[in-house]
Amino acid sequence: MNEGAKTSGLRCPICGKPTEQAFCPFCSKRCADVDLNRWLSGVYAVPAKEEEDEDGERPREEGAGEE
Ligand SMILES: [Zn+2]
Repeated sequence: MNEGAKTSGLRCPICGKPTEQAFCPFCSKRCADVDLNRWLSGVYAVPAKEEEDEDGERPREEGAGEE
């Protein structure tokens, strides 16, 4: 029943070890946590830039008068 459950041909993107089904696509919870932190860092970095734009000057599109 557990045949092929241990190794599915995938490797942990963090350390390169064979992935465990329980932590797929990672080999352990530690590696999954590392990737999660990376992901969160990227998410928070994106909207921060947009907020700066809104707080500074207004977008030109609004004052351009497209009509
Ligand atoms: Zn790993």
